[in-house]
Amino acid sequence: RLLPADPEDENYRRQVFQACYSRVKPIRVSSPALVAYAPEVAELLNLTESDCRTEAFKEVFSGNRLLHGMDPHATCYGGHQFGSWAGQLGDGRAINLGELINDAGESWMLQLKGAGPTPYSRNADGLAVLRSSVREFLCSEAMFHLGVPTTRALSLLLTGDQVMRDMFYDGRPALEPGAIVCRVAPSFTRFGSLQLFSARKDVDTLQALLDHTISHDFPHLGEPDRDCYLQWFEEVCQSTARLMVHWMRVGFVHGVMNTDNMSVLGLTIDYGPYGWLEGFDPDWTPNTTDREMRRYSFGRQPAIAGWNLARLGDAMIPLLGDAQPLQLALDRYKVSYQSGWQHMMASKLGLKSFVEQTDMALLEELQSILRLTETDMTIFYRKLAKLDISIDSDRAQNAEIIQPLLDAYYMPEELEGETLQQISNWLRRYIKRLQLDGCSNEERKALMNRSNPKYVLRNYLAQVAIDKAEGGDYSEIHQLYALLKHPYDEQPEFEAYAAKRPDWARARAGCSM
Ligand code: AMP
Ligand code: MG
Ligand code: MG
Repeated sequence: RLLPADPEDENYRRQVFQACYSRVKPIRVSSPALVAYAPEVAELLNLTESDCRTEAFKEVFSGNRLLHGMDPHATCYGGHQFGSWAGQLGDGRAINLGELINDAGESWMLQLKGAGPTPYSRNADGLAVLRSSVREFLCSEAMFHLGVPTTRALSLLLTGDQVMRDMFYDGRPALEPGAIVCRVAPSFTRFGSLQLFSARKDVDTLQALLDHTISHDFPHLGEPDRDCYLQWFEEVCQSTARLMVHWMRVGFVHGVMNTDNMSVLGLTIDYGPYGWLEGFDPDWTPNTTDREMRRYSFGRQPAIAGWNLARLGDAMIPLLGDAQPLQLALDRYKVSYQSGWQHMMASKLGLKSFVEQTDMALLEELQSILRLTETDMTIFYRKLAKLDISIDSDRAQNAEIIQPLLDAYYMPEELEGETLQQISNWLRRYIKRLQLDGCSNEERKALMNRSNPKYVLRNYLAQVAIDKAEGGDYSEIHQLYALLKHPYDEQPEFEAYAAKRPDWARARAGCSM
């Protein structure tokens, strides 16, 4: 099913028809150097830590050496970008080395990001720079340890070569160090992978890809037939709903939720301009190219995921001939997301269960008091766990009630008048609600601290690690990697990493790459 390769250049850029992938060769890099690796991911691949420190490891995971059985290829996919159909996109800077089956029988695809051009590179170079690679490496592992479904990262290597990039803040092209991350996932299939063949009316390839996806990644669904396709779509809707609940729980903003960046496995995929909410603001987006529309802002993520699922559903119509059952699955996405969100919020607040009649209003009011003055989302929930609910909240002064939360506010001087009154009123209501549950302070705190991370990859923390790494010092990457493995634990030696964003970092809380 592969088109004949150009004899001059296997990776020449082109439209690829009737094929899900193209064989490609990673380019040779001049002097690969290891920056970081993830021992837990190595273990999934039956590699030891000492394996990761060998010359061979650097050669293989920079793309310089292929191991026996590796069959490097780039996949062909399309996608809706910012709401418009973009046609063929594909792995423009990702090369799958092949699939590894580990001792537990799990299959893992190994993918190099930044290993050179492919047929899908269009007018770009197929390369990645250190700064975006540090962000991908750290964030994918941080997400995993937060309990959020995600692709993983095995390694981060410098290539020894320089890459030309336009720096957005001054528009001047600059040379930056090239890097390669090895990403690892059961599969990297995207909504856009199926969409492309459907858009081209290539139903045979569409069906071949879906049948392969089902037998490879959803074997429990059995023989592919019409019912199975529907069941598959239902599962994609449900896993996407769970993913959205997690993102909303931890304050993660993906930043480019195009349909080519949506995994059919419900994994977080493609760490580009992502960011973490610092001050709680549903309209916030880290993506500087989306600051007008704010299509991919924090609060819109669940609705956008629903829109993306609807586009995936459209792509399946040629196989099903009927949109009705797909619509039912999309309706259930909304229901599942809503109930998942309610349960998640109940656990963030330490409620034993969610009581729709009374708790919905409590949640709605919470959304508004979090926006009265800039409130650090992560710190707010951690501090909320420290409220003492044995107090008589009606008697207590506003200042006393809000005291445990003060660290969460960027402008404590704004905590006065109506703002202070509204926040305190909400806290009184919340305390009374908790008193009904009859949980002890300690029990409640333990419950809440399992849902509310103390440590997240704050935007400025990643930037500090990048700045140091660009000067040749990788210690901050290792430090962040180590502490983000235990995001829910108190780590007194790392207290500073749980603090509010410092003032100097405010302007830099956004990027595009
Ligand atoms: P993204 O917005 O990162 O999901 O990328 C959208 C499309 O652009 C995908 O097809 C990518 O493979 C491609 N792309 C992004 N960066 C590069 C690059 N440096 N070289 C080649 N293709 C790229
Ligand atoms: Mg992408
Ligand atoms: Mg990307």
